[in-house]
Formats: sequence, C-alpha cells, structure tokens
Amino acid sequence: MANRTRESARREANWMEKHVQKKIALLDRDGTMIVDKVYLSDPDEIEFPSGALEGMRLLRDEGFTLVLVTNQSGIARGFFDEETLERIHRRLRQMLAEQQIDIAAIYHCPHGPDEGCDCRKPSPGMVKTAMRDLDFGPDQAVMIGDSDADMGLAKAVGVPGVRIGAGQGCARDFLEAAALACAMLKTD
Ligand SMILES: [Mg+2]
Ligand SMILES: [Zn+2]
Repeated sequence: MANRTRESARREANWMEKHVQKKIALLDRDGTMIVDKVYLSDPDEIEFPSGALEGMRLLRDEGFTLVLVTNQSGIARGFFDEETLERIHRRLRQMLAEQQIDIAAIYHCPHGPDEGCDCRKPSPGMVKTAMRDLDFGPDQAVMIGDSDADMGLAKAVGVPGVRIGAGQGCARDFLEAAALACAMLKTD
C-alpha cells in the first residue's frame, strides 16, 4: 500500500512537471511597477502607482513568476552607481515582500544608448539571459511595460507585450495589464 502511494505520488509529480505550465511575467520597472521618478537614486522615493500591487498579486495568484527587466542608463550617465541601484532594488524587494510578492530575478542594463550593448531595451539581452537562467521559452512569457522600448523588446524575443498607457489598445494601469497577461497565458 505504502509503495503504491509512493508510486502514485511520483506519477503525479511527473504529471505536474509536464503539464503545469511555467508562466513568466517580464516587468518593466519605471512607469510600470513603480512611479517613474526619472533616474531614481533614492530608495525612499519608491512609490507604487495605483493598481501595481493589486496587479502583481493577481499575477502571483495566477502562478506567474515575476521578473524585472529595467534600463538604468543613470549608471552610465553618472547619476548613481551600481551600489545605489542595488540598495533601491533591495528596498523594492522588501516593500513587495511585505505584500507577499516575490520578484524571482532582476536584470538591469547599466549602459547608455550609445554604447551598443545587447542588453539595453529594446535589445533582447536581458530577456535572453533570463530565459537561460530560469529555463523558459517565448510561449511561456508575457512582457508588461509602458514604452516603445518594452514593446520592441517583446517583439525581439517573440513574447506578447502588454502596454500601459493612455493610447489606443493600451491597458489603463498595471492591474488591467496583469488581467490581460493572465488571459493571454490561460492554459485551460
Ligand atoms: Mg518604463
Ligand atoms: Zn546594456
């Protein structure tokens, strides 16, 4: 009996592994997850726009892994350094943890627009690295952002993009964007 139980548990685990789809939400930071303070350099300035926490909770509850991909050319421009960015992201994680929201990984591009790197959005570098690190493909992800660069990145890696903004076809806020993302990757 015990053996049979163990066997069926193992079968179930295998089934889960194969059939429960991994879902990744690739999230822009400034203007999407937090209010865009333009070259934010102080953790005390972190502020969530309306709908952001609710949207992240929705994504979490729908089984998404949250991944942050952010251009931070303020580093190349000398406005702040890597250590400051690290402090900001530590605080951000802390604030989200208080809401039981976990960010699985944060990728940032520190370069300026003229450096020709392959990670500054809309270039695909950060998401390609995330795909390797977290082992997912374009059909398992969705990108949420507020800029041309975010949508360009989505296109470059073959992931559907949801844009937050006032324009036509845009989600009005993060919560609406999150609901759209959930509908896009609905498996059943
Ligand atoms: Mg943005
Ligand atoms: Zn870069």
